[in-house]
Amino acid sequence: EEIRSKIAAGEIVERPASVVKELIENAFDAKASFIKINLREGGIKEVSVYDDGEGIEPEDLKICYKHFATSKIKTLSDIFKIVTFGFRGEALASISQVSKMTILSKHADYDSAYEIRVEFGKEIYFKPAHLSKGTLVKVEDLFLNLPARKAFLKTPRTETFKIMEIIRGLSLCSPETKYQVKSIEENKENTLFFWEGGNERELLSYIIGLEKSFFKELLLEHPPYSIFLLLTDTSKTFSHTKYLYFLINKRWIKDEKLTKMIINALKPFYGNLGFPAGIISIKAPYHLVDVNVHPAKWEIRFKDEKTLFLALNKALEEFFNKKTFY
Ligand code: ADP
Ligand code: MG
Repeated sequence: EEIRSKIAAGEIVERPASVVKELIENAFDAKASFIKINLREGGIKEVSVYDDGEGIEPEDLKICYKHFATSKIKTLSDIFKIVTFGFRGEALASISQVSKMTILSKHADYDSAYEIRVEFGKEIYFKPAHLSKGTLVKVEDLFLNLPARKAFLKTPRTETFKIMEIIRGLSLCSPETKYQVKSIEENKENTLFFWEGGNERELLSYIIGLEKSFFKELLLEHPPYSIFLLLTDTSKTFSHTKYLYFLINKRWIKDEKLTKMIINALKPFYGNLGFPAGIISIKAPYHLVDVNVHPAKWEIRFKDEKTLFLALNKALEEFFNKKTFY
């Protein structure tokens, strides 16, 4: 049983970047306005994520590393909304199985902060601690207990690169949040990402390193979909889709099939000039979206792809007819 749960955890937590993804999403859920991330050895030695959000109540903190310990599903209607994004209450449980995890958290309803330490699934301690606000999750020595898994990790440099991809994509889901990301090697600190909060256009410009004025925007309501485009036009294209971010219901999605569909929709407008940079953000009713329950796969299916494709096409038509540049 123990081995089985460690292997299962290894499937959910693939690499340091998956840890970073889960911890940032938890910070978003906690309504953080500031997220601070420290990395050692590409996150293999350590990933620390601090957020200034709501914090965890001591009773929840005590069991946070147990399977299905989620505080987020309180009513039946919540289940329908949340289950679409899969794996509720599994992230901390999985991470704690394959690392040394310490969580320090202060909830507003309690006078003291509390701290829990779990090493490879075993609780080491739970005690009062000091922290004035929010939550600090520290994940050390990822996969130290699963050498075969650890062997699949790349160099710290490559793992850092994968983490930064995650941070860029996720940050676009919440551009008003402040972010600070540092890598710490010996006693040398290196700032990898620094964002003091702003709007989508400003953050895109920071992430891609392209003047704000390159991005044009358009919002199209095409029931049941709402499509928001914030893209470069044909005057600035790229040979790859690396700078194209897809958001579905404010979640960043990396899905091959969806990417193909969007590329097909872009083709008539960008021709063989390549691909735009920017954001395509789709809002859809939850019942029309199906997210694969495996969090590492980022798979998403629309129940009515035809209508979505039409909506995308219409949005792009308007985008290209629009003469006002922002
Ligand atoms: P889920 O996010 O799916 O509920 P997790 O394993 O990611 O599951 O987290 C378990 C629980 O721990 C959450 O439901 C939440 O109550 C609490 N939690 C985790 N991280 C934070 C955080 N940064 N701030 C507040 N609460 C958190
Ligand atoms: Mg979570």
